[in-house]
Amino acid sequence: LSVSFSMYKGFFKKENLEVVHSLSLEVNSGEVVAVVGSSGSGKSILAHAVMGLLPKNAHMSGNITYRGEKLDEIKRSELLGRKISFVPQSVDYLDPVMKVGKQVQGVYSTKKRQEDLFGKYHLDKNVEEMYPFQLSGGMARRVLVSSAMMESPELIIADEPTPGLSVEMAMETLNHFREMADNGAGVLLITHDIDLALNVADKIAVFYAGTIIEIADTRDFINGGIELRHPYSRAFIS
Ligand code: ATP
Ligand code: MG
Repeated sequence: LSVSFSMYKGFFKKENLEVVHSLSLEVNSGEVVAVVGSSGSGKSILAHAVMGLLPKNAHMSGNITYRGEKLDEIKRSELLGRKISFVPQSVDYLDPVMKVGKQVQGVYSTKKRQEDLFGKYHLDKNVEEMYPFQLSGGMARRVLVSSAMMESPELIIADEPTPGLSVEMAMETLNHFREMADNGAGVLLITHDIDLALNVADKIAVFYAGTIIEIADTRDFINGGIELRHPYSRAFIS
């Protein structure tokens, strides 16, 4: 995945306010790239841009390509939910009037796959028959994560997959992302959980005020192998 764009928001009075600017990022197969940074800095906008979920009146300039091809509406309809999957930050993404079992089913995934994933994420069999309002916050999160894994995607965009999860479950989830990357998937992991990110990511990108101010190998962040350029990233990592 290659992303390079700016986005202006037309929805407020300041028409020309850029919410994301000069953003450039790549996620290669086999790689977990963690995106960390302050609240409101534009991380979810990045995820939504890739998934084609930006509001209609937001104007975006730049490019999003996947395996060298522009990710336009046609490509998206071919890839999203199968080759490219999404863990949204909000659990409201679940359809409130559809039973969980039905909405996590992929087109090509098998019943066995669903049972395995529900088992892995400690979701009881009866969760299938529930509606989203019957789930606890952590359960809803685990439903979203297992649903994104259903079709063994080539690329996962996870926007805060761990809030509401126990420490062990959060760790297991991120280890699962790591495993998928080791098997050839690409993972874009947006998270506030810097400790977990440092454990599983190959690269860390630090977001600040609408753009990536620093990106480097995780190892270099940990052992001080790079000179951090921006005061925010120095403060953040320390
Ligand atoms: P958090 O860590 O809290 O999830 P974030 O980095 O994901 O934050 P974004 O959701 O990407 O932040 O938001 C970036 C900026 O864009 C914020 O100033 C936010 O208010 C604004 N924004 C995002 N979505 C919309 C929207 N649909 N309408 C208006 N403003 C929006
Ligand atoms: Mg967000």
